[in-house]
Amino acid sequence: MKFATKVIHAGIEPDVSSGAIMTPIFQTSTYVQDAPGVHKGFEYARTQNPTRNVLQNQLAALENGDYGICFASGLAATDAIMKMFKSGDEVISCNDLYGGTYRIFNRVFGKFGLKFSFVDMSEMKNIEAAITSNTKLIWIETPTNPMLNLVDIVEVVALAKKQGVLVCVDNTFASPYLQTPLDLGADIVIHSATKYLGGHSDVIHGAVVVKDKNLADELYFLQNASGAVPGPQDCFLILRGIKTLHLRMDRACENAAKIAAFLEGHDRVEKVNFPGLKSHPQHELAKRQMKNFGGMVSFSLKEDSIEAANKVLSNTKLFALAESLGGVESLIGHPATMTHASIPLEERRKTGVLDSLIRLSIGIEDADDLIEDLNIALNA
Ligand SMILES: *Cc1c(COP(=O)(O)O)cnc(C)c1O
Repeated sequence: MKFATKVIHAGIEPDVSSGAIMTPIFQTSTYVQDAPGVHKGFEYARTQNPTRNVLQNQLAALENGDYGICFASGLAATDAIMKMFKSGDEVISCNDLYGGTYRIFNRVFGKFGLKFSFVDMSEMKNIEAAITSNTKLIWIETPTNPMLNLVDIVEVVALAKKQGVLVCVDNTFASPYLQTPLDLGADIVIHSATKYLGGHSDVIHGAVVVKDKNLADELYFLQNASGAVPGPQDCFLILRGIKTLHLRMDRACENAAKIAAFLEGHDRVEKVNFPGLKSHPQHELAKRQMKNFGGMVSFSLKEDSIEAANKVLSNTKLFALAESLGGVESLIGHPATMTHASIPLEERRKTGVLDSLIRLSIGIEDADDLIEDLNIALNA
């Protein structure tokens, strides 16, 4: 089944009790049993919920995996993955990643004895140097947030397999429409479904997809045991959002390419980070690894100061100043003071998150209007 058919049909059947074509929102906490232990596969709604089941099957199909496990947020999904490990285990992560992921690694799981190293994954030798006999997982974000660097999933997987280390890919930025890491050999895919999967900035949600039954069993156990489950209404909203993922993503990619080209030609702009630009150092890898280049663009200004960035940030009218990404509307943000404020200054500068760096999440509006909005703000 091709992607556009999958988003409408995979894992989705009309409701057996009514024929409803849209998956009902099973807003219930428990299920009546015919006799003790005799039930229809549903006992208690932390453990199973029919709306959530449909979404889990749909997500597994989109990522070409076998098991989907949904959570109350992307970070709750990360939390569950980390709870598969124990004190003394080591995780190697890319050094340019979502601020909240960095925070939960260091400040939550660090306390329980998990060890994290953050490396520049553009060179495999950096990963090789960080691997020890205690390394259990390599965590990849690609494209990265907010620098839009890529990590070569195939290369990392080859290295990890030799060492018996699991590979997890945060696929939030690309979405399964542009990239399916399990097909490239990754063991675990994680999403903040809050972003492109939901797509309408109206729900917080997270998901994990795997192929391996043992990994799935462990994650289902943690989903139930720790209990950070999404409500059925939120699952419904993600199911609804996914139906147009390919259409929204196509438009976002098209708009982002036009906006990146515009920014690259603007005389106040120092550097534009977008995998679709020929000037992007990993443009060839992007063409190989992704179906298209995504809807995220970041750029720095010639005058590298928070004040210069603020002038742009406060003068757009269509681009709303807000955290998050992946919705139908365009957003503008300032990583240094917003999404990445939890990363220490030194770490932040090392990865290129400069004071003037501005991040754009490109929506599905008309590209000409978006460019005009940015042009006015840049010339303000
Ligand atoms: C937003 C985000 C997360 C966290 O997800 P929440 O749904 O906000 O908990 C993780 N990774 C990336 C890349 C994100 O953009």
